[in-house]
Amino acid sequence: MADDVERFDLVVIGSGPAGEKGAVQAAYFGKKVALVEKAREVGGACVHTGTLPSKTLREAALYVTGFKRRNLYGMTLDIDRDASLRQLMGRLHAVTGQQVAQIARNLDRHGVAGVSGAAEFVGPQEIVVRAASSERAPGSPAVRRLTADAFLIATGSSPLRPPGVPFDDSDVEDSDTILDLDRIPLSLAVVGGGVIGCEYACLFAALGTKITIIEGRDALMGFLDGEMSRGLQSALEREGHQVLLGDAVLGIERVPGGPLHVALKSGKRLEVDKVLYSAGRAGNTAGLGLERAGVKLDAKGRILVNEHFQTSAPRIYAAGDVVGNPALASVSMEQGRVAMCHAFGFPYKTKVSPLLPFGVFTIPEISMVGATEDDLRARGLDYEVGRAAYHDNARGQIIGEPDGAMKLLFTPDTRQLLGVHIIGDRATELVHIGQMVMEHNGSIDVFIDGVFNFPTLSEIYKYAAYDGLGRLARRGGHSRTVGAPPA
Ligand SMILES: Cc1cc2nc3c(=O)[nH]c(=O)nc-3n(C[C@H](O)[C@H](O)[C@H](O)COP(=O)(O)OP(=O)(O)OC[C@H]3O[C@@H](n4cnc5c(N)ncnc54)[C@H](O)[C@@H]3O)c2cc1C
Repeated sequence: MADDVERFDLVVIGSGPAGEKGAVQAAYFGKKVALVEKAREVGGACVHTGTLPSKTLREAALYVTGFKRRNLYGMTLDIDRDASLRQLMGRLHAVTGQQVAQIARNLDRHGVAGVSGAAEFVGPQEIVVRAASSERAPGSPAVRRLTADAFLIATGSSPLRPPGVPFDDSDVEDSDTILDLDRIPLSLAVVGGGVIGCEYACLFAALGTKITIIEGRDALMGFLDGEMSRGLQSALEREGHQVLLGDAVLGIERVPGGPLHVALKSGKRLEVDKVLYSAGRAGNTAGLGLERAGVKLDAKGRILVNEHFQTSAPRIYAAGDVVGNPALASVSMEQGRVAMCHAFGFPYKTKVSPLLPFGVFTIPEISMVGATEDDLRARGLDYEVGRAAYHDNARGQIIGEPDGAMKLLFTPDTRQLLGVHIIGDRATELVHIGQMVMEHNGSIDVFIDGVFNFPTLSEIYKYAAYDGLGRLARRGGHSRTVGAPPA
């Protein structure tokens, strides 16, 4: 091995949630760690193009437009588009800056050495890092060689750009470019009714943009419980937006000097100000030299890992979006930590919990944990449902949330909680209550017996549980409080 090779216990590639948390986990337990990042700032897609920018814009849009409450107080939407855009982008840059600083502090506090540049494997235990001259610290070499006992690949994913889509038109966007917003569009066609497409659709709808979502399948976000998905669709349609299911884009053309024309399989033609393509994401594996390291990919180009996030090269781990679904920041962090505990034998986290909450920051918000009715039916399991609506809850009435609802799924015999589905304000927070009950194999009785603050949205769990008990009683048994009134 050449003398100029720098030696570490762990080299992490990528500073998104998986890379940051993996690096810090190993450093916390005393390992000598380097983290390589090719972008100018740490944070990955989570901070710069994904999770945080979209959520910051959403929060800013709701605040600036008074979207949620304006109907309550008889307000109409009359926004100054230029001023709103400035406020939105100002907030975006402020939050991004805070997050970058926080991650840099965390890495620094744990003594993780930052290495700027693009990493590439030259063998199973060595990488080269090439830094652009503009990114290089004074005196540091253009190419550095790093070796380590273990590696963590956490290089994330990028938006897929299907061929034939005119991305060279500045109004045809993907989920990265949409953030360089030059104006709030008057109308937007969102191609793809998955999480990212629906979140941006709702954000722009709140800003007064006329939205059309085009989705090939028969529901928005097909992994959700059908009632939640239809709830979102109704909320959008009630505000005058269009959701076109079972349809597809055949072509997009710019009328010279005019709007974009979108031709659909159904024969419809849309005239829109902008198009957002949200057609999935692909792992960032190109240029990593994985073949030289013995790291294998699956048929979809994702890095193959086992339950410990070990790749086909045993001392090389991979975590986060680069290993595929669920491709969430929340899960990527845990994967990074679990991977490093396994790599160094730390007696700590041994697995990522199989019970993953899903948070969708649409307007209204949606969140779920555990099984859907479709899952349970497919598995041939008997279950019962308990429902409650925000408009029957004191806090729900105070905030005036028209679409809010909760649905609990549980076993009829032991009343074990199997799934929680929520649509409405704070859904992504509320879901954790049910998740914790499920983590401990608890039953809906926990909600019946517990005391909740009043007036709160959390209390809706109690009424959904009462509703479930009532349904059990009506089916003729199993209820410990026959006909319990939802008092
Ligand atoms: C619009 C949008 C909204 C989202 N909203 C949510 C949400 O609400 N909640 C949620 O949990 N998740 C959300 N996600 C998903 C979340 O952003 C990702 O799951 C998460 O960022 C993945 O983390 P990661 O560490 O795998 O990779 P990333 O965050 O993508 O980071 C990868 C890093 O690796 C670096 N890199 C790549 N190749 C190299 C190389 N060769 N050398 C050096 N560095 C390299 C990149 O520059 C990047 O900094 C959203 C995503 C999008 C696009």
